[in-house]
Amino acid sequence: MGRAVFMGRPGVLYPKVKREEDFEEYKFFDDVPENLTLLGNMGFSLVIIGNSKNDVDGASYRGAFDRVTEGIRFMTPSSMIARTCYHDKEGCECRLPKPKLFLDAIEEFEFDVEESFMIAGYPADLNAARKAGIKNIVIVTTDNKKWSKTAEGFAIAKVSSFSKAIGTIQEMMLLAAAL
Ligand SMILES: [Zn+2]
Repeated sequence: MGRAVFMGRPGVLYPKVKREEDFEEYKFFDDVPENLTLLGNMGFSLVIIGNSKNDVDGASYRGAFDRVTEGIRFMTPSSMIARTCYHDKEGCECRLPKPKLFLDAIEEFEFDVEESFMIAGYPADLNAARKAGIKNIVIVTTDNKKWSKTAEGFAIAKVSSFSKAIGTIQEMMLLAAAL
């Protein structure tokens, strides 16, 4: 069984975007490309998980979101799996914080949840990962400072940047190797 690093999108890879239909508004944090490559080199599969919105009033949320996903793919030679809910308020089964996107990827790629990690930028990410059985959850506070105490209780670390989240995962791997 393989191991994965799951990650949310806003607050993890880029700041929360106001006009999600506008591709130009997505600005990746500077430390993202090198750290995605580092994770791939550490033997992790990369799984990007996110909610998009329905296309309404001529605005293509899905178009912008998919272009951003492709942008992430081009940042790194590491292979990447993307799972997205596009159903926005239709009572779908897969919208975060529901765990379906996680559970489907875990089943399809046979990831070992005990060996996998989640990097969460918002509580919906964390709660979905937790329901999917992932215990190694790192909270990033770059974007969202309002993590509730409840959410913090479910994380192994709370850090201030994507680089530091990757540093935490590296430390955990070294500790596990030393046991
Ligand atoms: Zn959905």
